Amino acid sequence: MKTNARVVVVGGGMMGASLLYHLALEGCIDTVLVEKGELTCGSTWHAAGQCPSITGSYNLAKIHAYSNQLYPKLEALTGQYVSWHPCGGLRLATNEHELAWLKQVYGYSKSIGFRMEIVGLETIKKLNPFLTTDQVLAAAWTQDDGHGDPSGLCNALAKAARDLGATVMRRNRVLEIRQRRGGEWEVITEQGNIVAEMVVNAAGCYARQVAAMVGSDAPITNMQHHYVVTHPIPAFMARSEEIPVMRDSYTSGYFRQEQKSGLMGIYENSGLTEAWAPRGVPEWDSSNELFADDLDRIAPWLERAIERMPIFGEVGIRRVINGAIPHTPDGAPLLGPAAGLRNFWMCCGTSFGIAQGGGCGKYLAQWMLHGDAEINMTEFDPRRFGAFADAAYVRDKVFQDYRLTFTTRPPGEEEMAGRPKKTSPLHDTLRAQGCVHSETFGWERPKWFSLDGRSEAGSYRRNNVFDVVRDEVAAVHERVGVLDLTGFAKYDITGADAEAFLNRVCANLVPKNAGGIGLIHLLSPGGRVQGEMTVTRLGDAHFYALSAAAAELRDLDLLRQSVKPGEAVSIDNVTESRGVLVVSGPRSRELLSTLTDENLSNESFRWLRGREIRIAGQPVRALRVSYVGELGWELHAPIDSMPTLYGAVWRSGQSFGIANYGLYAVNSMRIEKGYKAWSSELTNELNMLEADMARFINFNKGEFVGKDATLAQAPRPYKIVYTELAATDADARGGEPVMIQDRCIGVVTSGSYGHRVKKSLAFACVAPEFAAAGSAFDVLIQGERRAARVLGAAAFDPDNSRMRT
Ligand SMILES: Cc1cc2nc3c(=O)[nH]c(=O)nc-3n(C[C@H](O)[C@H](O)[C@H](O)COP(=O)(O)OP(=O)(O)OC[C@H]3O[C@@H](n4cnc5c(N)ncnc54)[C@H](O)[C@@H]3O)c2cc1C
Repeated sequence: MKTNARVVVVGGGMMGASLLYHLALEGCIDTVLVEKGELTCGSTWHAAGQCPSITGSYNLAKIHAYSNQLYPKLEALTGQYVSWHPCGGLRLATNEHELAWLKQVYGYSKSIGFRMEIVGLETIKKLNPFLTTDQVLAAAWTQDDGHGDPSGLCNALAKAARDLGATVMRRNRVLEIRQRRGGEWEVITEQGNIVAEMVVNAAGCYARQVAAMVGSDAPITNMQHHYVVTHPIPAFMARSEEIPVMRDSYTSGYFRQEQKSGLMGIYENSGLTEAWAPRGVPEWDSSNELFADDLDRIAPWLERAIERMPIFGEVGIRRVINGAIPHTPDGAPLLGPAAGLRNFWMCCGTSFGIAQGGGCGKYLAQWMLHGDAEINMTEFDPRRFGAFADAAYVRDKVFQDYRLTFTTRPPGEEEMAGRPKKTSPLHDTLRAQGCVHSETFGWERPKWFSLDGRSEAGSYRRNNVFDVVRDEVAAVHERVGVLDLTGFAKYDITGADAEAFLNRVCANLVPKNAGGIGLIHLLSPGGRVQGEMTVTRLGDAHFYALSAAAAELRDLDLLRQSVKPGEAVSIDNVTESRGVLVVSGPRSRELLSTLTDENLSNESFRWLRGREIRIAGQPVRALRVSYVGELGWELHAPIDSMPTLYGAVWRSGQSFGIANYGLYAVNSMRIEKGYKAWSSELTNELNMLEADMARFINFNKGEFVGKDATLAQAPRPYKIVYTELAATDADARGGEPVMIQDRCIGVVTSGSYGHRVKKSLAFACVAPEFAAAGSAFDVLIQGERRAARVLGAAAFDPDNSRMRT
């Protein structure tokens, strides 16, 4: 038995097998996959095997697209039968929201490169002549979709990995995983111990138990899911072609042909059941396990499927499958490092593991071996969940996600399952003022304020809060606005070596003098952007760093894992002990001056300076920075003092015309300022030069992580540009293709309407030859071409005069 390996993969389902193969493809064959039973014996063997191209997330769509390219080739590659049926897919739209969503995904298809058309009833009927099309408006016809035999696919991936030199051990359970003093992992299996540099949790429904072996957690709940297979259907017998895999919100499920029979799978939206309830976890000896059928539970939706496909009702049900699927709270897989651990990776939590397995394996292998994947992995990073994602939260969210699997949620709609989880002390006060919160990393954060009781009508187009956001922006621009941004990730970085440490791990030079504020970026050794932080120097050996709420654990890992032995640096996560009140607008100085003895004049408290002062008697770290491009201060205060602070600002603000504002308004104003955002423009896909962030690198300061790679990188066809769009009633939001005639030359990374400049604005990643100011191209928004022009400077106040004064 192999007792040492570079990588041990725990679990031989679709995810583990795909990862093993892709590690091997990337040249890493010093690997062992350890499976407690037979390959596929977890969730994989009983899956229905469908692989759709369509999914709501741009990055996940890349994962699906890669799987659909790989699977048709696997049989020829390995000789293993995979039963790939390239029948395509039809996703029905039965209302305008669904159609709008399909148009959004149509945009993804152009930039990612999978085949998709939006087709009308005539084509739908041609592709599936048995379908009842009541209420159907149109459908997405995705021709690269198919379905395969999941066991065949998984075994083929394992065989392909073995053929390249990887090792697979079956019937060998991992009992324990320990970290040795030197950092290597010791994987204790039934057949012996394996020492490994890296361990991967690909344990499917057991991922939570395997994570627990290393004191970590995989936030999953395992759900029961049914599909049924009918007796052979005479009408199918008479045909040689196969109908596409059908997906439909009315049915809340999928239906297709299974050989000459019908297959219907249901995502019921009531009576949902956890697998292995009430224990919630499978026994270790569970293998190829199915649960008792509960056709009554899914009957209402089965009936609808039969309404859609009356020929399915002409024959009886031959087989019922009720198996377990792991689900995460947000429906996306867990791909990446486990928080707080070095070299312990997650490759689990997928509820569409057949469709996603191929792509998940490919991009995770890149990340593990090269430090970065070629697609944006932020939304899959397991560290997007923290301690807030306890069992009750995960269960509530997963139930919601399962229920809504086939329901299109238009942008702007808030789902409340599991919430609120983390609230600022101002939460109730702001609610009473009409605040509508959105959730990031468990935090409830103000999104917009409903002053007249209206609710947001979610839409891909400008909706009924457009005017509300315009008014919030106007308040900040003309008077003064206040925003609770307590969810910011916050770290105190202290110690004699703190400055040298930060200068080593970031691309910019940190402020040299106390009171200075700088924007810094953490890079991977390969030079790609990992994190962005605002750093304030509070003293010789004290820096206060702020980063995105969703990056709290990621950046904590990046910082802590970069400290060298013996280095005098300590990094404290103070996120929950400080609140943040942002006071912005031309009258912010006057307002705050009523609450402090401190001189806030431009001469004594300059832009990009920070210091400890008292506001309304409360000690605050006052930072003169602004993400919205107006005069303003961020007040970072002990969390318990937030009500006093806000109360004083609000009361005093009345005579200055104060208004609350939320993150919609922030997004509108930050894009007017041309500020790029971490996780949309600043991602692991790009280096600082490609992200047009050269001014935040200091190549002269000596060595820093990612410097050599940034300098050595051969030119790649990516450049972030800032554009103005001739949009009418829908703005770009991310994922829209950038077109020159019929050629896709890039993709929008984020966009919004700029209310101060009254322009639709977007960032896009395009081929460098289109990056010069004045370059023109089109952006496809909701399937409609909108002219775009590259801007050479911020649309609003490019000289920063409003922040400087
Ligand atoms: C009825 C049904 C239909 C489905 N249809 C589809 C579909 O059409 N398309 C689609 O994309 N998805 C579908 N799915 C979902 C899909 O089955 C799962 O998402 C996928 O199989 C998950 O793969 P995995 O590798 O993560 O997990 P698994 O296949 O469960 O693999 C994990 C493996 O880890 C092993 N393991 C666990 N702990 C240990 C240990 N300590 N030591 C060693 N080994 C261990 C287990 O034995 C198991 O084999 C369906 C699911 C169900 C229930």
